[in-house]
Amino acid sequence: MSGEKVLLNTEWLCDCGGCHIALVDLHEKILNVLESVEIQKCPVLTDIKEYPEAEIGILTGSIRTEHDRHAALEMRKKCKTIIAFGTCAVYGGLHGAGLAHSREELVDCVYKNSKTTKTDFVPSERIDALSHEVTPIDEVIDVDLYLPGCPPHAHFIFESLTTLIEKKKPETNQETVCGRCRRVMKKTDVTEIKDPLEGVPDEHTCFLSQGYICLGSATLDRCLAPCPNHGVACSGCAGPSMQILTEPTRDIRTEVADRMSRLTNIPAEKVKQRIESSAKTHYAYAMATKMVGNKPTFLIQKWIADVEAQ
Ligand code: SF4
Ligand code: SF4
Ligand code: SF4
Repeated sequence: MSGEKVLLNTEWLCDCGGCHIALVDLHEKILNVLESVEIQKCPVLTDIKEYPEAEIGILTGSIRTEHDRHAALEMRKKCKTIIAFGTCAVYGGLHGAGLAHSREELVDCVYKNSKTTKTDFVPSERIDALSHEVTPIDEVIDVDLYLPGCPPHAHFIFESLTTLIEKKKPETNQETVCGRCRRVMKKTDVTEIKDPLEGVPDEHTCFLSQGYICLGSATLDRCLAPCPNHGVACSGCAGPSMQILTEPTRDIRTEVADRMSRLTNIPAEKVKQRIESSAKTHYAYAMATKMVGNKPTFLIQKWIADVEAQ
């Protein structure tokens, strides 16, 4: 990378801060980036209230307040290229699971009922009210580049930043997590779905073959598959695969259920029902996006309400 420095703004909306930490987690590669980039506005590094003009704008988090909306619009006005950075920005992310509850329930849960965050002080003044919905940023502004992941893996962050700095066209990756997973799919005679903590899974065999639900086949590879390669089934934090996003009849639960039923003796319908009954877990990262919510999964909120009523 060489030549004049590229101006960069970052801004966080409704998020956990993890995506900004992931930028720092580039480790020594951040030095390569800093050779070519001048960071202007960045909530973890600089205290600049206004939005300077920039080549690249990184937006993390989803839109949940008027402040989030204002910040997204300002970034769009001032930045030539906007990156929706992280699953919250692209699909609404984990905050999307808040759709299953009212604003009052969420505030009560955090400030009144949670053992770890309970307090006598419930902020109300000078704090923007939560909107009714969690909104991915491309429903409010145009987005030029999507980088899902919770947070995105350093490999893909570096790749996308260097591509933009060098003014090249970013490559698209349509692989799923299964493409990077070292476990082998094989036909077994397993008849029951196992709970995630039940038994000790074989380390070489696909989780689905063993009766554990793994979302790897329905999830875009934006992480290099660390979870299944280290003993944990994929929970889909990088968001849906291209097939799920682009084919109206495919869905997270149908994709996983069909594959699991082919690999075991568990009927697909049973897998679908299990995923629906734990929708707040299996759809947690992409519940808020219309790309998923407009599928038959518009029933997500009903599935969650049915489970919580039991
Ligand atoms: S995508 Fe994940 S790491 Fe990034 S802000 Fe959202 S919850 Fe945090
Ligand atoms: S379903 Fe999960 S365990 Fe099986 S190959 Fe895909 S990522 Fe690996
Ligand atoms: S393997 Fe799945 S859960 Fe793990 S980081 Fe990748 S997408 Fe997220």
